[in-house]
Amino acid sequence: MEKILYLTQVEPGGELSSFALEVLSGAGRLARDLGCELAVGLVGAKADVQAAADSVAGCGAAAFLAVTGDEFAVSRHATDAAAFEALARNAEATIVLAPGTSRAARAMPGVAERLNGRIDSHITGTAITDGRPEVERWFYRQRMMGRLTRSQRPWLWLVDSGVFDAWEGEAGGATLEALDVPLPELRTRVVGVESPAAEEQTIRPDAELLFVAGAGWTKKQADGSTHVKEAETIIHDFLETTGASLGSSKSLVDQAGEGQEVISFMSHMNQVGQTGSTPRHPKGLATCCHGEEPHVVGWRFIKERRAVNLDPGCGWAQGKADVLYVADAFEVMRRVNELLKQG
Ligand SMILES: Cc1cc2nc3c(=O)[nH]c(=O)nc-3n(C[C@H](O)[C@H](O)[C@H](O)COP(=O)(O)OP(=O)(O)OC[C@H]3O[C@@H](n4cnc5c(N)ncnc54)[C@H](O)[C@@H]3O)c2cc1C
Repeated sequence: MEKILYLTQVEPGGELSSFALEVLSGAGRLARDLGCELAVGLVGAKADVQAAADSVAGCGAAAFLAVTGDEFAVSRHATDAAAFEALARNAEATIVLAPGTSRAARAMPGVAERLNGRIDSHITGTAITDGRPEVERWFYRQRMMGRLTRSQRPWLWLVDSGVFDAWEGEAGGATLEALDVPLPELRTRVVGVESPAAEEQTIRPDAELLFVAGAGWTKKQADGSTHVKEAETIIHDFLETTGASLGSSKSLVDQAGEGQEVISFMSHMNQVGQTGSTPRHPKGLATCCHGEEPHVVGWRFIKERRAVNLDPGCGWAQGKADVLYVADAFEVMRRVNELLKQG
């Protein structure tokens, strides 16, 4: 009989991110389908962990385990790994699910080694065949999808975002079992967190819409000139009013290295595609982007796709978008921004 452990760090203030709640619902479903027990393991400052446990008290977990303390609340490999290891051992878990955050992705492989277990990352689906749990993941830069199982236990799963719907349910009073985990040797001191202002952060994984800008925004337009500053303003205003996440084609972000005038808030981090990211959003709007396969392969998980392009023969018209507006993206987006401002 499997024993499932769901693990996550708690955000300051006692919140669980929507990503963490998605993986919780996946863990709950797996436990229900396998007919086995679910335990929840939380790591963070003491008050935060209690608040987080209370917020998911109705998730059906048989136990709420915790590793608390100020040193465990911050992102550091030594403390994260020690906390995860203690939680997995205490729960006697055979399968451990955690959201594949950068923090968990850094600590969990070492935990798998310490537990003599195995780990799989970037899990995009789960299934049960003949009573055996299986995971799905993509291989070879999203070209092939594989489904695999393992006999080794414990088996640690780092799950991607967007795979499950976020858990929703009753809050309540959860009884926490706090584990006494000795602090490992600390060679890293966390002195603070620096993050960009929300409006400067253009990559927004939780956004409803992915807005992709292509190289066309910086190309010569009908009047024979480029209009990069205007493009920047249009895109910036749209992102500000809608809270959309900003994606880019490779051609646009490569221009910085080629000495061309570029969209200032765009970097390689925004690149979507075969050699970029594969974000997950319910909707996507591509503008001034040709829709070539190496780019569109990064749209694999975008459910509703629209594009604006001057060229009726562009890639989006070849079955890659649900709707293609054959139009000038400057005109379209200027008008969209006006309409958005009118509310
Ligand atoms: C191995 C490999 C990996 C790659 N990986 C990636 C990747 O990860 N991501 C990626 O994006 N690409 C990738 N590429 C490159 C990819 O093939 C394309 O070259 C790239 O996506 C083109 O970018 P683009 O569509 O923005 O630019 P362009 O091909 O230059 O297209 C610009 C488009 O803008 C349109 N346009 C211009 N002005 C306007 C206007 N006013 N209104 C509306 N439309 C307008 C034009 O009609 C044109 O279709 C890869 C290529 C290879 C070989």
